Amino acid sequence: MMYDPYVDSELTNCQPDIASYWQAVTSEQTYYPQLGQDLNCDTLVIGAGYTGLNCGYELAKRQQRDVIVIDALQPGWGCSGRNGGFVLRGTGRLGLSQLAAKFGLDTARLFHQEYGEAIARVNHLISEGDIDCQPQAAGYYKLAHKANMAKDLASQASLLQQEFGYQVRYLNKSQISGQVVNHQQAFAALHFPDCYGLNPLALAKGYARLAVQAGAQLYGQTPASLIQRDGTGFKVHTPQAIITARNLVLASNAYTAKGLYPALNSSCLPVLSSVIVTEPLNSGQLQQLNWQLNSIMMDTRTLKYYYRLLPDNRILFGGRGAITGKAAADPVYARRLLAALKHCFAGLEQLNYQYQWSGWVGVSFDDLPRIHSPEPNLFYAAGYCGSGLSYSALAGKRLAQLVAGEALPALPIYQTGLPVFPMTAFRRQGQQLYYQWGRFKDHFL
Ligand SMILES: Cc1cc2nc3c(=O)[nH]c(=O)nc-3n(C[C@H](O)[C@H](O)[C@H](O)COP(=O)(O)OP(=O)(O)OC[C@H]3O[C@@H](n4cnc5c(N)ncnc54)[C@H](O)[C@@H]3O)c2cc1C
Repeated sequence: MMYDPYVDSELTNCQPDIASYWQAVTSEQTYYPQLGQDLNCDTLVIGAGYTGLNCGYELAKRQQRDVIVIDALQPGWGCSGRNGGFVLRGTGRLGLSQLAAKFGLDTARLFHQEYGEAIARVNHLISEGDIDCQPQAAGYYKLAHKANMAKDLASQASLLQQEFGYQVRYLNKSQISGQVVNHQQAFAALHFPDCYGLNPLALAKGYARLAVQAGAQLYGQTPASLIQRDGTGFKVHTPQAIITARNLVLASNAYTAKGLYPALNSSCLPVLSSVIVTEPLNSGQLQQLNWQLNSIMMDTRTLKYYYRLLPDNRILFGGRGAITGKAAADPVYARRLLAALKHCFAGLEQLNYQYQWSGWVGVSFDDLPRIHSPEPNLFYAAGYCGSGLSYSALAGKRLAQLVAGEALPALPIYQTGLPVFPMTAFRRQGQQLYYQWGRFKDHFL
């Protein structure tokens, strides 16, 4: 049964293998052993996903701090090693027009700048660490899944070009089939030039290497089971050792167990995102689809589908999964994704999937993440709402700056903590209702 942070009180270091496509194709697989003796440090980071590894890297390299990063399993075991590999300009679930409506145009421009810096940071780290993560630099297409969404994309294009100077490009239906792919459910598209696809696990392994080279100590198979206050600092219990730290960073995001730090668990709803990877397409199928670019794509549905053609001509296709960890492995979810894929692309009736897996993304109540210090010397970053590949690299840096007492950019996500969900105990019932409403809206409105 899959670990479920909504109900499980702790994440142990015995978890089933993910068996993802990324595991099969990633050559960098350094194993980080368990911590076996008590240690002291300036800063302990719990969680070695992109956020924790970037935080450890920054603290060691730029702040010259004595930093330890631990993961319950191995670096990238959480979302970071099992996502779709979409490097997107943004995080959370609010687009620039929604941010402008909520916070004003100037703040929305600051968000846009921050998101651009996140992509630049990912690009910089890939080249600094010579990380072999197979970037496929062909942009991102946001696809109108219905004819009536085309107008919406056209007005988004003018807003982004005129108010943000963002050179997105609008494509109509025939331009999509001529220049991108024959798609049965794409009525228009917006092309975002600075986004692209990569191998997410290779990126996580590369970040781990960079953090260690910078001087961070990294331990795998070392779950934090208990956090205790110790004066102004902390004592953190792990299976074989206790770590005493002046500062504590929670970078466990959606994987934070109910019992580890309940305040974070109750303001970050763990939601399953699921992925299938098909067998490789043959040249006839590729030709029929006229699939020309290895770009990443996502539709405008409330319950979105995201997909891309991988370097070995397989399709990765993702969307929402089960609600509970208990139901995560039910093949009905993978079959549903395969059916949705076949609705998008004609001529793939015989195509099957070879890999399927899921992971927990952290959804916040107001659709925005936060980087925050809820109590002295304790810090967290969480709530990227399923869109955190690029942003988490910058979030790790922002966390490190917060630990070092530096000021962060004047953005709302750095000014408060994550809002607590109302009726916390009923979040899953709320999620169920949201899925029903989303299905209705995507079909009929
Ligand atoms: C199927 C799927 C597809 C996705 N696709 C995309 C995409 O294409 N683009 C995009 O931008 N985003 C995507 N995301 C989201 C993205 O992967 C995440 O936002 C991002 O990886 C979050 O990184 P993180 O470091 O904050 O958290 P994580 O990578 O989840 O890391 C948290 C780590 O904390 C560890 N941990 C938890 N508790 C403890 C403990 N007690 N002790 C020690 N360690 C602990 C876990 O083992 C885990 O490794 C996807 C997510 C999923 C699941």
